[in-house]
Amino acid sequence: MYSEVVGFIRKQFDSDEFIPLHAPVFTGNEKKYVLDTIDSTFVSSVGKFVDKFEELIREYTGAKYAIATTNGTSALHMALMLAGVKQGDLVLTQPLSFIATCNAISYIGAEPSFIDVDKDTLGLSPEALREFLKESVEIKGGQAIHKNTGRRIAACVPMHTFGHPAKINELLDLCKEYNINLVEDAAESLGSTYMNQQTGTFGLLGTYSFNGNKTITCGGGGMIVTNDDHLGKLAKHLTTQAKVPHRWDFVHDYVGYNYRLPNLNAALACAQMEQLDSFISNKRELAKNYSQFFVEQGIHFISEPSNSKSNYWLNAILLKNRAERDLFLTYSNDKGVMTRPVWELMNRLPMFRHAITSDISNAEWIADRLVNIPSSVRLK
Ligand SMILES: *Cc1c(COP(=O)(O)O)cnc(C)c1O
Repeated sequence: MYSEVVGFIRKQFDSDEFIPLHAPVFTGNEKKYVLDTIDSTFVSSVGKFVDKFEELIREYTGAKYAIATTNGTSALHMALMLAGVKQGDLVLTQPLSFIATCNAISYIGAEPSFIDVDKDTLGLSPEALREFLKESVEIKGGQAIHKNTGRRIAACVPMHTFGHPAKINELLDLCKEYNINLVEDAAESLGSTYMNQQTGTFGLLGTYSFNGNKTITCGGGGMIVTNDDHLGKLAKHLTTQAKVPHRWDFVHDYVGYNYRLPNLNAALACAQMEQLDSFISNKRELAKNYSQFFVEQGIHFISEPSNSKSNYWLNAILLKNRAERDLFLTYSNDKGVMTRPVWELMNRLPMFRHAITSDISNAEWIADRLVNIPSSVRLK
């Protein structure tokens, strides 16, 4: 059975060579735009491509503000600060995520608390969140307070895992009820929609990543989006060293951050944005092929959840148990087809072993069974 799976994957990519999990594709104006920055000497954080990239993201997502940053992690760090997260606060998030979410929370001196995910979306579960809030949280002086520790719950950060939208409307309603700001980690889900609205634009703030392995890349880069006028302007100010605009004076009015995306990277991003729609339809076609094949094989393939359209950033299957998972990982990687288990659950890492963790049996069940399979845009 595993040889048929590996054979089918090879057929999709029409290749006898090593097949990576996700490789970038540069088939548009990438070289032209990057050379343009060099010719113009505007390679650093000021330049027309940075402004253009932000404009393209605003147009594409419908967000009122878009602020380009050095990477997705810095975008998250800034978004959490803008959402009012302070040292000592708790931030609710899912244990099934990439480390960047928890790192950004930790940079502030806040601590993640882990809530389970849904098996269909792989994202934060509204039922699990409701249960946690009802059992463990009270509202005091207008703020959500964790009863056992007395600590403030400042924000909630769901993540749209592998590009599949979480049940973001329900999560938003719960957060509103408890006065908790919602920040969407949409690093993996640019172009994915929930009820026809772009992921990343539901929360108070949302963030994207343009790392080399994401749907589109600019080498390294990130973006903060928001519809809030005050936060949108503050995000731009704080990510550019909080310099007060002036023709020659250098005056700064906050502790700012050097988080602005360089024009050199933004040039690559603008070229990639021109291809985003074709990349996504290419990826959706691959997911359709996978889906049909895995039904025949009796293997569960993760499909887009209801009410959603997924960018299918990273495809995934669920095997029978951890032993089967490990057998397949060994077989496929030995055969030169890259596959990977899901990230080690965050609550199992040494930095977060003591974090508040509610019942996360879905995340544990998924972690035992899930395998990511090659998902790049195919050139032919
Ligand atoms: C990629 C990613 C990020 C951001 O990563 P950067 O490499 O800093 O751009 C954040 N969260 C998740 C879930 C991611 O997958």
